[in-house]
Amino acid sequence: MKILRTIDDIKTYAKSQKDAGKTIGLVPTMGALHEGHLTLMRTAKENCDVVIASVFVNPVQFGPNEDYDAYPRQFEADCKKLESVNVDAVFHPEPSAMYPQGYCTYVNVEGDFTHKLCGGQRPGHFRGVATVVTKLMNLSRADKAFFGQKDAQQVVVIRRFVEDLNMNVEVNMVPIVREETGLARSSRNQYLSPAEKEAALVLSRSLQAAKIAFEAGQHSTSALKAIAIKTIQSEPNATIDYVEIYTYPGLEPIETVTEPVILALAVKIGSTRLIDNTIFGGK
Ligand code: AMP
Repeated sequence: MKILRTIDDIKTYAKSQKDAGKTIGLVPTMGALHEGHLTLMRTAKENCDVVIASVFVNPVQFGPNEDYDAYPRQFEADCKKLESVNVDAVFHPEPSAMYPQGYCTYVNVEGDFTHKLCGGQRPGHFRGVATVVTKLMNLSRADKAFFGQKDAQQVVVIRRFVEDLNMNVEVNMVPIVREETGLARSSRNQYLSPAEKEAALVLSRSLQAAKIAFEAGQHSTSALKAIAIKTIQSEPNATIDYVEIYTYPGLEPIETVTEPVILALAVKIGSTRLIDNTIFGGK
């Protein structure tokens, strides 16, 4: 596996692959890789000749009081995992290479949907994501890029700017990978103590409870939301940041489930903020 550390490294590598007629798949990550990330890599590998992963904790998508400094960084272990799924190259730049002195260009996706869910809670977050993903798509010359449903709102934002900016990248969304317990895999699960990990099961349990009620005929979104909220509130260690149901991918409010919707939640377990979601409904 090639390790690409500079802007020149990735430009040269992408050009060589393009010149050889290869299709390129991009999988952006912030590292501390787990089975969720590796599933994205495998999907990319099945769909492209060459896979470029990126491991970059992107400073511009973190708010001032968020966990940028504490975010787990374990590049050597990440490389071993990437090699085990036959990733061809990993891009691991310094923040100063991505945002050198004088840097002042940002991709700002406007529109109501960016201010909901995580966009409402984390001002500037999607501006940072859209900016770095645009740069990574340009640098890697990706034909296809792969993202997780775990960050379903992020996929909506990315699809929007790719279309609006006429970028020739196919955006693919891969289902959420969970532990056997139901807990969605996340790099931030590393912050959880064993007791908190147990408490964190309330996220997937609340999604399940709402989905079971939906399948039993409850189609009112406020009733479904109430079921999820009640389940979360049964866990003393959990504090709700948001629990919402919107149409997906439109992210519009809806009273009755008559088209696909997302039930999305962000919950703090102790001081760790976790997100999870499920998409259901429609024909
Ligand atoms: P991150 O490193 O957390 O920025 O995530 C990088 C990519 O992996 C994003 O597209 C995430 O949506 C995706 N991802 C993270 N966790 C999971 C998971 N449990 N299942 C599927 N994809 C995931």
